[in-house]
Amino acid sequence: MNNSLIPEVLESKRVAYECTCGSLQSIHRIYFCRHCHQLRCRDCVSHEVDSQYCQHCLEYIPSIDAKLKKNKCASCFQCPSCMHTLTTRAIITQSPTDSTQTQPKKVFFLICYYCRWSSRDIGIPDQTVASGNWPELETPNAKRLDALFDRYRLLAQREKLDKEKKRISPRSAIILLDKYGITPSLSPKVTATLRAKMAKSSSGFSLSDLKSPTEMNDFETSVATDQIEALDINAYYNTPQDMALGETSTLNQRLMQVETQPDHTSSLYPVSQMLLVKHSLRCKTCDHNLSKPEYNPSSIKFKIQLSAYYHIPELRIKSIPTLKIGQEFRLEMTLQNPTPYALHVTIFDLSESSDESAAIKVPQLVMGLAPKDDTADLDIDKNFQSQFNDDNNFISFRKGNKLGFYINVCPLKTGECRFRIGMKHDFVNTVIQSTREGPNDRQSQISWITHKIWINLGDVCD
Ligand SMILES: [Zn+2]
Ligand SMILES: [Zn+2]
Ligand SMILES: [Zn+2]
Ligand SMILES: [Zn+2]
Ligand SMILES: [Zn+2]
Repeated sequence: MNNSLIPEVLESKRVAYECTCGSLQSIHRIYFCRHCHQLRCRDCVSHEVDSQYCQHCLEYIPSIDAKLKKNKCASCFQCPSCMHTLTTRAIITQSPTDSTQTQPKKVFFLICYYCRWSSRDIGIPDQTVASGNWPELETPNAKRLDALFDRYRLLAQREKLDKEKKRISPRSAIILLDKYGITPSLSPKVTATLRAKMAKSSSGFSLSDLKSPTEMNDFETSVATDQIEALDINAYYNTPQDMALGETSTLNQRLMQVETQPDHTSSLYPVSQMLLVKHSLRCKTCDHNLSKPEYNPSSIKFKIQLSAYYHIPELRIKSIPTLKIGQEFRLEMTLQNPTPYALHVTIFDLSESSDESAAIKVPQLVMGLAPKDDTADLDIDKNFQSQFNDDNNFISFRKGNKLGFYINVCPLKTGECRFRIGMKHDFVNTVIQSTREGPNDRQSQISWITHKIWINLGDVCD
């Protein structure tokens, strides 16, 4: 019971808002574009990488550097044995080979304080600088991969050049001139240059043709073969009894080093910390930002955050009684206003077809929602009731920016009791307009917005 309560409070699946694209989402998973006045789900926004950073040292890494370093942090490593972060440890040593040297030397190695794995275990030499110039593991097939990268880059370049060539084809330009009656005698200069260009391209002499043969000569194309190494099934299924389990790497450890996939723990190598990205979201329809984080990697704040949770009244079910077919009951729901403006909400019935699983009756009134006020003391505010003059038949309670109301529901079928309602409310859009009176004149625009909301009350008892 307890472990099902938390997701129910934080992310209820019983109340789903319908996105413009038709997908159903909880209010915490959708965005509200205040320019289009529409809900946008994750599929209706374009995702852009804003910045890259290391989650361990919280360093911001420009995307060009990140690309060069293969999206890895240069200074942070993960333990290849337990995936914990490795720490650099310093010790003072006296060089035993060189007796003339009396100065003790400070050296560094990597150690995991969780499982005690250290870079000395696999024979990585100690480093003399703390930042460590840790030797990088040579990736098998690195040469082949680089060659492939180069070739595809070249092909892409060639395609781009071809495309550009096609766009300004001299032949079609001459035809076009002819079509509009511009004869060579009228524009001798233009025609001459076009003809010269045409001669050049027809002789097959162009920039891309000149470059490609020399640069692609040493590229080996892949050849298909039917000679493959036989798979040693015994290594997987008939392991010997005396196999040292402590020295065999686990599946997780192997997948951490996907390039080498060592089957022995002595071949485990420190794993560079992968970089994380901060990403921003953009409305696909109007191109405005719906979410933009701050660049600073240690900041969890947003420059722009248009999550629907902060702009759209949140509808929740207060409690669900036992559902029985044909038995009408009053369903208590709550509405919460997340904005600092007073809102006016109406709920209406949207059930259209006969295959609805419930008949509903919604209150025919405009519900005024008090603005959200973080400083208000909820216990002192007892005069809300009188202020709004509520009908107790429809409104069950009022507390700050929240109110409860009733919907009459009558389940009609067995199975899930599900119905659709509409919610209409006003939305106050504060746009900063630069007018003649002042540079920053705040002007509020009020518009009316309608949402479709699906309510799922769960299974009906027989
Ligand atoms: Zn927009
Ligand atoms: Zn938009
Ligand atoms: Zn959508
Ligand atoms: Zn780092
Ligand atoms: Zn470890």
